[in-house]
Amino acid sequence: MARILIVEDNALNIKLFCDLLAAHGHEPEAVTDSRNALEAARAFSPDLVITDIQLPHVSGLELIRLIRDDEKLADVPIMAVTAYSAHGDEERIRSAGAQAYVSKPISVARFVQEVDALLAGDQEVVPEEN
Ligand code: MN
Repeated sequence: MARILIVEDNALNIKLFCDLLAAHGHEPEAVTDSRNALEAARAFSPDLVITDIQLPHVSGLELIRLIRDDEKLADVPIMAVTAYSAHGDEERIRSAGAQAYVSKPISVARFVQEVDALLAGDQEVVPEEN
């Protein structure tokens, strides 16, 4: 069982991600307002952070950088989930410090596979092809 923090502003996606992770034996915690995400992450001490990129207030990209710069959270793996699939955007997300990148609408199998890989300390197993 892993503690997984989800930062996502869409209620349906929160439900989908939480249900998926719980069904795989994990303990998900969701934050809808990205302004609270860093503080929530410090308090929750997640084994993995899954963040949307298109977030109001603090963008997913900014949040990834904040987590990477945080003394307590710097080594926590991050999986970005985004509806925006331009090549340049993916590169920015990865260079900001996310280890995996999953496009919406998500493939359930790939989502779970990447979560397992990151929790095992591996790199992304199946890079996006688009
Ligand atoms: Mn969003």
